[in-house]
Amino acid sequence: MTKYFDATLIHVYGTDRSGSTMLDLILGNAPDAFSCGEVSAWFRPYRKHHFRVECVCGEKPCPVWEKLKDLPEAVFHARLAKELGVRFVIDSSKDICWLIDAQRWAADQGLRMATLLIWKDPVDLAYSYWKRGRDAIAWRDAFVKCYGWVQQIGLPYVSVQYDDLVREPVRTVGALCAALEIPYFEGKINFWNKQCHHLFGSTGIRIQASSKDSCIESKKVYPQEFEAQRSRLLECLARDAQAQRIIRALKQADILLVPPKDIYATRYVPKRVPPFWYFRKKTLRILRRYFPERYEYSAGMEIETIPERHSS
Ligand SMILES: [Zn+2]
Repeated sequence: MTKYFDATLIHVYGTDRSGSTMLDLILGNAPDAFSCGEVSAWFRPYRKHHFRVECVCGEKPCPVWEKLKDLPEAVFHARLAKELGVRFVIDSSKDICWLIDAQRWAADQGLRMATLLIWKDPVDLAYSYWKRGRDAIAWRDAFVKCYGWVQQIGLPYVSVQYDDLVREPVRTVGALCAALEIPYFEGKINFWNKQCHHLFGSTGIRIQASSKDSCIESKKVYPQEFEAQRSRLLECLARDAQAQRIIRALKQADILLVPPKDIYATRYVPKRVPPFWYFRKKTLRILRRYFPERYEYSAGMEIETIPERHSS
């Protein structure tokens, strides 16, 4: 079997609205790196627009994805590294089954692999969900499944707080690059200066990446309407032992608080029988291929059917 020992697969994993697309693009901002975006959705589509490659570069067809789109998923990352001549492949797919399967593929193909968990403070995450019309406690289910499941299977990871990334991008990205052995350079965070070819992912970042505007901005002030729910949310969170346990574990792996000794030293060995939710999730995704979720699509950008709330 051909081995590509020089290549590294970095999986940036987090809930919706966690900043995973932005971190994917920042780490992929180098001549020897490539950001895939949420590429699992191309191989395992579950929304209507996942059935066609609509690259953010705007070219139809995209010359990069023309080379990649027919690769089998089990060799995708390794062959991408070879085809494009890159050392770092960044994947921000939000599918836990894909994340687990990719561990096996990386081992088979001789890729180094690291997992980064990016997470938002629950209040910020709740606000991100709330302003898109969802209940202020809807964040919890996504949060527990996303990070709790990774912790449950014992996958080694380093964590990044979204707040640190936006408040101190240079320090945070510098620490990540040092740990991941990615060359750091001035302007590394300015991902909009590189032509992106990532698939799917966050709408806002895609638009900003297309217009090459800076997206690293300071923290927003919550509108009054959300502030009224904040104390209730904090009370619930204080009593939520499971969420607190997950947060404690995330902080123990924080790139700025606990610098990792060797991010690539520990390889994940999957359990012989995956947890029940792996099979459930995989079956649901297969069904979604035939009954995809509704998403509107406009000018090559994915738009959620739920409009954002606007504070008065
Ligand atoms: Zn493209």
